[in-house]
Amino acid sequence: MNEAGSFPEGGYAGIDTREYWKNWKWQVRHAIRSIDTVQQVLGITFDPEERSQLQKTVDKFPLCITPYYLSLIDTEDYRNDPIFRQAFPSPAELIVENYELSDPLSEDKDSPCECITHRYPDRVLFLISNTCAMYCRHCTRKRKVGDLDSIPDREKIQEGIAYIRENSHIRDVLLSGGDPLMLSDEVLDWILTELSAIPHVEVIRIGTRVPVVLPFRITDELVGILKRHKPIWINTQFNHPKEMTNSAQSAIAKLADAGIPLGNQSVLLARINDCPIIMKELVHQLVKNRIRPYYLYQCDLSEGISHFRTPISKGIEIMESLTGHTSGFAVPRYVDDAPGGGGKIPVSPNYLLTWSVNKVVLRNYEGIICTYQEPAHYDRILCDENCDACKLQLDIEHADESKVVGVARLLADYDETTTLIPENNERIERRDDESL
Ligand SMILES: *Cc1c(COP(=O)(O)O)cnc(C)c1O
Ligand code: SF4
Repeated sequence: MNEAGSFPEGGYAGIDTREYWKNWKWQVRHAIRSIDTVQQVLGITFDPEERSQLQKTVDKFPLCITPYYLSLIDTEDYRNDPIFRQAFPSPAELIVENYELSDPLSEDKDSPCECITHRYPDRVLFLISNTCAMYCRHCTRKRKVGDLDSIPDREKIQEGIAYIRENSHIRDVLLSGGDPLMLSDEVLDWILTELSAIPHVEVIRIGTRVPVVLPFRITDELVGILKRHKPIWINTQFNHPKEMTNSAQSAIAKLADAGIPLGNQSVLLARINDCPIIMKELVHQLVKNRIRPYYLYQCDLSEGISHFRTPISKGIEIMESLTGHTSGFAVPRYVDDAPGGGGKIPVSPNYLLTWSVNKVVLRNYEGIICTYQEPAHYDRILCDENCDACKLQLDIEHADESKVVGVARLLADYDETTTLIPENNERIERRDDESL
């Protein structure tokens, strides 16, 4: 790995980089934003036809790569390099398929105010920044990231904070963007202070790619700020083992030493990490560095990223190769963030084969088929949701009293619902009496 100092041969644009390399502000100021600079730094040349296609791509979706991240590219075989493929545009981004959407997750429709997406009752996505240290070519929010017109100003952020303050169901606030850690220490400290002062906010999450693309941003000062507030969980996005450099490991160690729980959300990307062996190596690198693999995302239907998509079957194959084959806590949950605001839906190989009243038949990762004998006696507790008659010793004072929703409602003893019917179901609408 030709990291630090040696970029390229210790110099960049005539400057001796060794002194500044680990200064995150220097890295941001010297981020590479043009195809010509990439050609110059990597010592590569695109032919005029490709060069002009690439320019069109960059005019639509901007290019931005930190010197650090660019330095990880293997110049001998850059076209197959996972770093290059995540950071450098491809003319394939200009292809628009008719099923692609600029807002595939309908985040805009679930927005009570500009910076907030409120899809789940108890948690919100709070977009506090729209810049990133590196613009991922596979970004699902491509249409917003890097767009100067949609940089949230202080007033908009205040609006978001006020919304969270007024909604007492919100116990978990997910700071995202863009990358929240691209904000200055002062602004971050202000937002975290405001959120921590809201009694019903129990945890704050930060989704950031900074440990991967700009590890030097994790300074002692920043860690000091993160420690001072309500419990903070950080989720990062390592997609390939090659990203786990010494600098990334030091950044991660600082966060972990500060007691911040770390998770990782990978995106399944064609020709980058769509391989069971790469994924296993990645999750092992993660847990070695005290990061818990949290999600493996199926690639969204965003515009301009279809060349990164794999079939869902590839993800299932990867899950099959991990589950049981490595430590349970090294296995992420594979999810498809369904279009139209369906949310994250877990997808998994099937382990439950069949069952009778007495036995359940399961198969394990080795293909061994096993039976589980159901208990002969089991006292069914009928829940009246009052907990008076129940012996489970739930302290009702602290219980979550929100009503059961969704499919779980069909299982609840105290709810009369027996069927969930999609809206506009023709068969039901044909009936004179639409009740069941
Ligand atoms: C992903 C996401 C969340 C958080 O989901 P978890 O499963 O709790 O990690 C919350 N809101 C929105 C809109 C999201 O996309
Ligand atoms: S860091 Fe996240 S928000 Fe930023 S470009 Fe990458 S995927 Fe998009």
